Amino acid sequence: MDDKKLKFNSKTIHGGQEPDAAYGAVMPPIYQTSTYAQSTPGAHKGYEYSRSANPTRTALENSLASIENGNYGLAFASGLAAIDAVVKLLDPGDEVVSTNDLYGGSYRLFKQVFEKYGIKFTFIGMQNAEKIAEYITDKTRLIWVETPTNPMMNVIDIKAVSVLAKQHDILLAVDNTFATPYLQTPLDLGADIVMHSATKYLGGHSDVVVGALVVKDKELADKLYFIQNASGAVCGPMDSFLTLRGIKTLHVRMQRHCDNGKAIANYLAKHPKIEKVYWPGFEDHANHEIAKSQMSDFGGMISFIPAGSSYEDAIRIVEKLRLFTLAESLGGVESLAGHPASMTHASIPKEEREKSGVVDSLIRLSVGIEDEADLIADLERAIG
Ligand SMILES: *Cc1c(COP(=O)(O)O)cnc(C)c1O
Repeated sequence: MDDKKLKFNSKTIHGGQEPDAAYGAVMPPIYQTSTYAQSTPGAHKGYEYSRSANPTRTALENSLASIENGNYGLAFASGLAAIDAVVKLLDPGDEVVSTNDLYGGSYRLFKQVFEKYGIKFTFIGMQNAEKIAEYITDKTRLIWVETPTNPMMNVIDIKAVSVLAKQHDILLAVDNTFATPYLQTPLDLGADIVMHSATKYLGGHSDVVVGALVVKDKELADKLYFIQNASGAVCGPMDSFLTLRGIKTLHVRMQRHCDNGKAIANYLAKHPKIEKVYWPGFEDHANHEIAKSQMSDFGGMISFIPAGSSYEDAIRIVEKLRLFTLAESLGGVESLAGHPASMTHASIPKEEREKSGVVDSLIRLSVGIEDEADLIADLERAIG
């Protein structure tokens, strides 16, 4: 089957998947094994040791490559392990230009782990792609983009950044966790590497922690595979299975996330007790036109600031929510609410955080796929 010709809604189910060679199992078996029998040293059926490769992980990696329109997928123990592998492509002295309002854990990994190995990170607003050029030096080797950004919902023009990256011979990596390939495929827009916290929408059920990379280029895939195997933060067989199962319904879930997200964004925007709502689907969103051109819909992630705009105002609301669970993470079938300043983004210094808009009163919603009316009723009660 040439699954490159399939439409997205078929790729989620069939992309890179074949019935299992052993017994024809339609669903990939969970090969819960560390090692594989060899008939004579070096003679095996493609698998030697499960850090290097495992058939269940291969099934997931093929699916990831298919849905992101890439050629090679790599599955990691977490999203951060996937990012870690990308940064390990670099050498001491190299520089990275990164989005300034990015996932707090990515920021922490860059600043607190990799800076001490001599890699330099510059964090900038990327909403205006031309401005990025000012920060590129002859040592810049990687541009790290997250779009829509977390939690401010800024949208970055992937195509424009990729033109710039190519001019300077710099790798462009895009964290596609928020949008998922249902809404945007960065490799088609010129990115070299797509990264996911598959913990979120790809897995979709808040039951695994998994990371992913997808690339088109064989040489780049080989380098990343070398790092994956050498460092060893691989995705286990059970988690590979669960993530694959999640991906099969990605398109159905994402559409409902988008529909519920739209309803809730509009509800909040009209609410007299809400000061500001961040959602790329609004026509007056600063990057709405870019969002429209590179995304097929606007997703279920929304941030907002309640009237009063104080830390206490935000905490009062998140504590009163019932259907929205107050928790870290996002992208599951269930709705979650978060308080970035004290939760996901607590590892970013307050001054740094507030520069990009992550104020103490900001609340972030991951709108799930429950009934829209129930979700709005929950918000109505909590906002009061
Ligand atoms: C959660 C998240 C990560 C980190 O992924 P883990 O699976 O938690 O390691 C990276 N980027 C974004 C946008 C995320 O939401």
